[in-house]
Amino acid sequence: ATPTALVVATGELAKRGVLAARGEALETLSEVTRVVFDKTGTLTRGRLRLSAWKGHPGALKRAAALEQASEHPVAAALVGAADDPGEPGERLENFPGRGVSGHLEGRRYWVGAYGWVAEQAGAAPEVLAAEATRMDGRGETVVGLASETGWEAVFGIADEPRPEARATVAALRERGWAVSMVTGDSEAAAGSLARQAGIGEVHARQRPEDKLDLVRAWQRQGEVVAVVGDGLNDGPVLAGADVSFAMGAGVQAARASADFILLSNRLERLPEVAHIGEAALRNIR
Ligand code: ADP
Ligand code: MG
Repeated sequence: ATPTALVVATGELAKRGVLAARGEALETLSEVTRVVFDKTGTLTRGRLRLSAWKGHPGALKRAAALEQASEHPVAAALVGAADDPGEPGERLENFPGRGVSGHLEGRRYWVGAYGWVAEQAGAAPEVLAAEATRMDGRGETVVGLASETGWEAVFGIADEPRPEARATVAALRERGWAVSMVTGDSEAAAGSLARQAGIGEVHARQRPEDKLDLVRAWQRQGEVVAVVGDGLNDGPVLAGADVSFAMGAGVQAARASADFILLSNRLERLPEVAHIGEAALRNIR
């Protein structure tokens, strides 16, 4: 496209609340073959809340104490649900896409993805495992809390799909784009949301580095990949995409890596951006 066409298109995007950090990316849009969505905060609103929990008295307060230094939306849900998160844990360490570890009352604790906590502390006792299965079945994200002396609790974290997700997915597919979801969450939570959004191809339990590997594998097969994300862990995969979109409500690391920022957080802008990109190219052809 001519520089003038790009300037015009960038102005069209701005009117719709889409910031074009790299206007040239508009030209790549017409070549896209696949769009890859992150789940939490992207296809969902990212307003996570604690829906249910089971475990030792005081476990919610301890989970909140460990999560105080984390920016993850799961952390915000746990801290928000605790009446009094108390003093933050000591030696807090963040494991991206997994959880947090730290020390409380002289013991090492882990709070995070159920499977990851089981890798650290061993399998959960039957009552907690049964509760985790029920949470999983409801499509909730299951978070575990355990110390080096044993399991203390499981937490079910719920979120809502963005209402426009399904129509957006349908509109992008109509453009001929394949649609995939890539998430760090479990198969059950991912599958439940994918069904609601109309996405058939789902990759669950993907760590940040796995997400990037998946995109690279598609690119090696000749695909041109657009990625939409919001989170702390989405920076690398956004940077590795051919075209990238960050939610405006997402973290700075995601916005800094993206070609386009959806300031309004509205997914229906995606097919509109694709359309504007094509129009800009037609101007010179
Ligand atoms: P997504 O790909 O859905 O945005 P992430 O990759 O950020 O998810 O996280 C994957 C999973 O790791 C979450 O579903 C959650 O179970 C767990 N997790 C990550 N960070 C934390 C944290 N600070 N506290 C608890 N659980 C966490
Ligand atoms: Mg996310």
